[in-house]
This record gives sequence, C-alpha cells and structure tokens, in this order.
Amino acid sequence: MSEKRARQLVRERSGGVCEVCGAARATNYQHRKNRSQGGPWSAANGLDVCGSGTTGCHGYIHAHPDEACLKGWSVRSWDDEHAIPVQTHMGPLLLDDEGGWAWAEITEGALDG
Ligand SMILES: [Zn+2]
Repeated sequence: MSEKRARQLVRERSGGVCEVCGAARATNYQHRKNRSQGGPWSAANGLDVCGSGTTGCHGYIHAHPDEACLKGWSVRSWDDEHAIPVQTHMGPLLLDDEGGWAWAEITEGALDG
C-alpha cells in the first residue's frame, strides 16, 4: 500500500479526530510498528493522532513506549498489528488494512497499569 493511500484510509477512519484522545484534531500518522522494524504503510499499522513529535498524543506515545505498547498505540516488531487491540477514545479496537475496525475483546490484564 502506498503511503498516500495509508494516510488517506487512516484519515477517513478517524474523521480527522485524534483516535487516541478524541479531543483534538488529528494531525499526525503514528506508525504502530516502526518503519525501522518493518512496519508497513497500512491502515492497520497507522493511527491518526494529535500533536507532533513532542506534543499531543503523538508526543505522549513516543515519551511513554511501555504504555504505548500496552495500549496498542505501538506494536512490537514481532507482534501482528492486526491482532493487537488498540485503545482508542471509543474503546479497544482491532484495525484492518481497509480502514475498517471491530470491537476488540480485552484479554485479561492487558490494560493493567
Ligand atoms: Zn490526541
């Protein structure tokens, strides 16, 4: 998938609202799995978040990597971004590559901390 297409799908999914806090305009495509770890440009691997490198939810995610992994905002290189629920302002979701989503079952303890 092209970068342009991935950004477009993620923006359509979010409706332009930060998918993490739901309280600010989304401005930034957050890679759940880093590009450096083989993370693709895809709807499932992206989150539309507010802020930039150091501000808003984007900045928060990068400043709190352990919490970000726990909440699915970041995905470790060996995990599948399609299978890891992401905690959004709507609740925990599973994302697909077409820009769709489904409610995720919360595995016990997944959101501890
Ligand atoms: Zn936000």
